[in-house]
Amino acid sequence: MIIDSHIHLHPTEEVGKMVVEMIKEKHGVDYYSYGTPDDYLKDMEQAGIDKAVMVSFAPDNQLKNNNFWTVAITRPGKNQPAKYPMFIPFISVSPTMTGRKPVDELEHKLKWGMKGLKIHPVAQKFAPDDKRMWPVYQWLVAHDLPITAHSGMNIDASSTYGEPYRWLPVLEDFPELKLVLAHLGNGFWDQTVKIADKYPQVMFDTAIAISHINAPTTLDDEEAADLIRTIGPERVMFGSDYPWIDPKKDIEHIKNLPISQKSKELILGENARRFLNL
Ligand SMILES: [Zn+2]
Repeated sequence: MIIDSHIHLHPTEEVGKMVVEMIKEKHGVDYYSYGTPDDYLKDMEQAGIDKAVMVSFAPDNQLKNNNFWTVAITRPGKNQPAKYPMFIPFISVSPTMTGRKPVDELEHKLKWGMKGLKIHPVAQKFAPDDKRMWPVYQWLVAHDLPITAHSGMNIDASSTYGEPYRWLPVLEDFPELKLVLAHLGNGFWDQTVKIADKYPQVMFDTAIAISHINAPTTLDDEEAADLIRTIGPERVMFGSDYPWIDPKKDIEHIKNLPISQKSKELILGENARRFLNL
């Protein structure tokens, strides 16, 4: 079983094009696709990907719309099956969002089938250890639901609020929080290893970190294998960060890493299946 635990989707080709082109222009980061659900389905088919986690987030003024769309496409309608049951919906909140309070938004979207939370502290401009997020973490622990957080360097090379150590006060108070640090800590590898050591329930995803793109933070195969062995292969999940990365290429990278066959199976799907209770 192959599970991509980190994808971003866009509702239409027009929206997708606008987002990826804007980021390319602003930060010089190339992309692989415009990222509509149907675009990704083709890659799933070609790469044998069974499920994918939509880690949706947006600026405050688009947050509610984005959350709504994320759960709407993955849940069955009144008399019809879900259009995209292969996608697992993670929604987002922020301490500065308007309208619903973060916990109210979580409650609301839980009824609509959300399966976890995604936050991007760098892009959403708040620290993981912002005390206003404590009710959110408490809610997640009470509902036994996971949170994926961007960690490390962002595509614009900024890392404010992205450093993995920012999670230490959170984990101190919520040691049971089912946290996934995305990108393996992107560039802050020593902090990643320290957190992995201290909090054995924290998981990690491979997005960007193993993609061999021209970022200063990309690991080569030897370095990636070394980091995975240090953290433990049972704690690392394949994530592509589609539509910026071609998931088929990342799967090939993982298959070519100098780690055991069993480790590859764990990373490509088994860990996510276990972690997400699929
Ligand atoms: Zn991402």
